[in-house]
Amino acid sequence: MRFLITAGPTREPIDPVRFLSNRSSGKMGYAIADAALVGGHEVVLISGPVCLNPPHAAKVISVTTSDEMFDAVDRHVRDCDIFVMCAAVADYKPAKVSATKIKKRGAPSSLDLIPTRDILASFATRDRSFFVVGFAAETNNVEENARKKLFEKNLDMIVANDVGATHSAMESDENEVMILFRDGEIQRILRAPKKIIAHELINIFCKSVRKTFDKKTAAIT
Ligand code: C5P
Repeated sequence: MRFLITAGPTREPIDPVRFLSNRSSGKMGYAIADAALVGGHEVVLISGPVCLNPPHAAKVISVTTSDEMFDAVDRHVRDCDIFVMCAAVADYKPAKVSATKIKKRGAPSSLDLIPTRDILASFATRDRSFFVVGFAAETNNVEENARKKLFEKNLDMIVANDVGATHSAMESDENEVMILFRDGEIQRILRAPKKIIAHELINIFCKSVRKTFDKKTAAIT
């Protein structure tokens, strides 16, 4: 199967030396890419800025901003069978980027922000031919918030994790996830190294893609 996976944070520039970003390390997305390769799948990995070694056997595309990630996904998504949007894309970016470093004295006391484009929602259209997996990092009402995103963004599946918990997944080598399906089914993977979770996720993704494909074929015949 052909995987398109995004990983890591995005950086939204304020001026040539400053940016808005988040704590995503990219570890979960890279582990999923590694696990897919081990499973014999093809992988295109679109990565925000992270400090990780890229998997050798994947085609890796490095991006910085959410707009660059959007364009990279746009170029590759129609050639994949499964699109896994694991990146922690910034939800907002500065309305204006200063071409020169903003001086301490002349600095504005507030920063005008505008929403970034929602990459996942933009490509999870109804007429698509690929399977779509989203991620939801939540600090509260994890299940409820994730289910809302599953339907609002028209996903096939969403992987939710609690980033407000004492053992937050952010930057950690471990994670604990809840997987929500459109038919209401929920699966849980208990706390484990991200590498182990990634292997389980690949199995779950592949099983679900096959099930969806079989259903579509049955509907045609
Ligand atoms: O709405 P929220 O940001 O919590 O949704 C999380 C999911 O949406 C993740 O899969 C993330 O990669 C994706 N996302 C996106 N583009 C954005 C913001 C989030 O694709 N601008």
